[in-house]
Amino acid sequence: MSKRDLYKNGWKVATIKSIEHEIVKVEDEAGEITVLKELPHLKNATSEFDDLTVMNFLHEPGVLKYRYDQGMIYTYSGIVLIALNPFSRLDCYGEEVVQVYNGRSKGELEPHLYAIAEDAFSKLRRYNKNQSVVISGESGSGKTVSAKFMMRYFASADCQKNSGIEEQVLSTNPIMEAFGNAKTTRNDNSSRFGKFVEILFDERNSIVERSRVIRQAKNERNYHIFYQLCAGLEDGALTLMKIDKEKQQWIFQVLAAILYLGNVEVDELDKEKPITRNLNIIHRLIGVDMIELKKWMTHRLIKMRNESIESQLEDHQVVQVRDGISKFLYSSLFECMEYFEFLCRANATRFIAVLDIYGFEYFENNSFEQFCINYANEKLQQEFNRHVFDLEQKEGINWSFIEFNDNSDCIEMIENRSGILSLLDEESYLPRGSDQVTIDNSLNKSFVNKLYQSFADNKNKCFSKPRFGGCNFLIHHFAYSVTYHGQGFIEKNKDNISEQVRSLLLEPDKLKWLLPKRECEKGSKRSLSLQFKPNEEKKPFYFDNLYVIQQLRACGILETIRISCAGFSMLSCVKSDDSRVIAESILKSVTSSIGPLDYQIGKTRIFFRVGQMAFIEKARDDKM
Ligand code: ADP
Ligand code: MG
Repeated sequence: MSKRDLYKNGWKVATIKSIEHEIVKVEDEAGEITVLKELPHLKNATSEFDDLTVMNFLHEPGVLKYRYDQGMIYTYSGIVLIALNPFSRLDCYGEEVVQVYNGRSKGELEPHLYAIAEDAFSKLRRYNKNQSVVISGESGSGKTVSAKFMMRYFASADCQKNSGIEEQVLSTNPIMEAFGNAKTTRNDNSSRFGKFVEILFDERNSIVERSRVIRQAKNERNYHIFYQLCAGLEDGALTLMKIDKEKQQWIFQVLAAILYLGNVEVDELDKEKPITRNLNIIHRLIGVDMIELKKWMTHRLIKMRNESIESQLEDHQVVQVRDGISKFLYSSLFECMEYFEFLCRANATRFIAVLDIYGFEYFENNSFEQFCINYANEKLQQEFNRHVFDLEQKEGINWSFIEFNDNSDCIEMIENRSGILSLLDEESYLPRGSDQVTIDNSLNKSFVNKLYQSFADNKNKCFSKPRFGGCNFLIHHFAYSVTYHGQGFIEKNKDNISEQVRSLLLEPDKLKWLLPKRECEKGSKRSLSLQFKPNEEKKPFYFDNLYVIQQLRACGILETIRISCAGFSMLSCVKSDDSRVIAESILKSVTSSIGPLDYQIGKTRIFFRVGQMAFIEKARDDKM
């Protein structure tokens, strides 16, 4: 095992042959001897753990690999479920498995998504509190598939099989995927929007559902729905969603209009030329005025004191307007689809939210989309830190301070008053006449220069200016350092269509219903599920050590484990001094096997050592 080999593979199993004068000799399985200057990580005596927090020697993914090689893709790490994408069909999601997990507490059975789902469901019932499950990981790691299995669990565990509701919950997926997913290099079915599915429960804990879409990103013309449209659609799923035939027809017409818009060439828009076939079809499909559309795709209005002049746009600007219109129509349609998904809302009192969020992205060329995605992941990580660490520290329990991936500096740099987002907005909406359409690259450059002035040269440790600056800047995210290409930030941040175009599009009555209103509600308790992609080639059951280690490090999972091991895991409420005494005496009486070292009483919560909470819950359930 050469050093190079080691770096390439992340880690290897080897036996210690000798330790002399601080020189460690190890022999790997192929019989090769390597000399090390320090003691390597020690292998755990048994690999039959299903929870990383109970390992004797804590290090990177020995246990995960062992389990994965045996076909076990799920492993706990305290409150977190770690999942490794199998890239092959497993038969562990069927109805009989749902029944097995139904009503059982988390530690009782093999780690599984269903155990997390059941946990959320039973907490919803027990504490009458909204729950959320956050699924995060790299693109292609299996988040969306997991979210679907979660939904399937809620739908079937809920004994609603004969009411048609299960069918409804699951039927919304193909639709949102058709509209929101596209093939990318990493995932053939990549969700290009953040999905926030809330499964709503009415008083009797039966299921009603809605889906929330946070954001829709690039690849507009590549969404599956367009291919399906070209291939001739069946109405299937849309009818199940109770969208009437007339609206369905409208949805298809708007989609078709977007396709035709993509075909419009700049020279067709020449003032002198007659209206082309493409524009004519768009008119017939969505009813917008052709002459006006042609005019505002090629001109802009510049307001000067008391008068306005129309000025001709350059070719590349025309393309921007055209694409801006497509984006506007598509995102309106998407929101509208989401609105249709919003079913049976009125009766619901509580919900379980399943957040399926695109993972951290770093490509060769990273633009505004990656910036937004990575920012969202920074926020998620912060939530995670807060949830697992902060909370426990604030309770003032006896606990040696352990450093963790604190990413609040990076988040502040992005979102505080003079942060990156403010600078971007400032530069995007600088009053420059009223040319809402023109973008020139000097704006992007000046935005990036402002970033340099504010953060480069060690002014902020989360930022650097690359040696060959150009229009690039580097952000040191908690997971990776990413170089962003500043060009395009301003255009993408801006609302790209002018007032004239917007009002033109909203004129036809039939387009007005495209802009429904939405509501928002907040969740409370959450469970976490982390998805890992064991190899880049999507090979079934192939575990690439280094690839997994990078992902484990990126999400700070080891820090979490360390803190859980050193400390305590689950919580329940202690309100006043009185209840403190009561809680303590209950703990003493409940069982003799929970000793004083197994829990600590914080200011508002009791902390149990890992495993104890499950024990107590079991004791309670047995009594009930
Ligand atoms: P993400 O949403 O994280 O980008 P997906 O959920 O779309 O990734 O998963 C990518 C692919 O990985 C899926 O299309 C599927 O082939 C495979 N996959 C993911 N999870 C599983 C699973 N639990 N069982 C079998 N295959 C899976
Ligand atoms: Mg996805």
